[in-house]
Amino acid sequence: FADRDGVIWLDGELVPWREAKIHVLTHTLHYGMGVFEGVRAYNADNLGASIFRMEEHTRRLFSSAHIMNMQIPFSQEEINEAQKLTVRENNLEAAYLRPMVFYGSEGMGLRADNLKVHVVVASWNWPSYMSPEAKEIGIKVRTSSYTRHHVNISMCKAKANGHYINSMLALQEALACGCDEALLLDVDGYVAEGSGENFFLVRDGVIHTPELTSCLDGITRSTVIGLAKDAGYTIKERRITRDEVYIADEAFFTGTAAEVLPIRELDGRQIGNGKRGPVTEKLQTKYFDCIHGRDEKYLNWLTPVAK
Ligand code: PMP
Repeated sequence: FADRDGVIWLDGELVPWREAKIHVLTHTLHYGMGVFEGVRAYNADNLGASIFRMEEHTRRLFSSAHIMNMQIPFSQEEINEAQKLTVRENNLEAAYLRPMVFYGSEGMGLRADNLKVHVVVASWNWPSYMSPEAKEIGIKVRTSSYTRHHVNISMCKAKANGHYINSMLALQEALACGCDEALLLDVDGYVAEGSGENFFLVRDGVIHTPELTSCLDGITRSTVIGLAKDAGYTIKERRITRDEVYIADEAFFTGTAAEVLPIRELDGRQIGNGKRGPVTEKLQTKYFDCIHGRDEKYLNWLTPVAK
């Protein structure tokens, strides 16, 4: 992944992809204190490559840094420009973008004082998070034996590098069991989220999703809630138990990488008719229309990268 053509924005400058390097004593590499974003750009109708909800992602990056007490030495506008620039300079029509804020190698102490705060923005082509057919047939999910972060163990509103140990353990376990993704429960045993996605279920035409307490405040989640409300659905944010998922009519995940992904099975129990349900399909279509600039109403969520 390091050996390829292209450019990466690092601390205010575009550097050749192969030269975007850091030292082995980089503080964040040792303790995981860093924050990042996952953003997507799509080839939108009439607009060309456009970043979806860029400002919200940048704002969350700055919020994550604030929670972790890291001072980003750039403005939100500069990070927005950097994102547009990397997509443009890498000639990408559609892209996954990875802005990240991390500490330098000036010292190793946990005090983390006098460390330089670095910012990188990389972008590359990453078409489908799961297999392309997963969007239609849905995925198999397993309740994780790993619990989602507690609000006072790590800060759940921050998208922090170190948090993803928990996600990776859960995902590895799910994959080892022949599933595609994990469903993590919170410390009280209620449904929280996937390893990198928010969770929704549908029952009797009403859409339910866990409260945000220990989940990441997903931008796709808020997009889908907005689209569903505009389409006249009722959304209930509340505590959900795993057996409610077993008897749901439909269930799906949302995330920047995963987009809107149907769940066809949890813990060996078929959900609904074991296929993508009608509400999921409708929201998925609305989401795809929206990211491709096909719905006038949501055009302000797209930022074209062209000058
Ligand atoms: N939860 C977790 C743990 C995640 O990593 C992500 C991906 N950023 C999400 C939810 C979904 O968030 P978003 O829709 O903003 O990508």
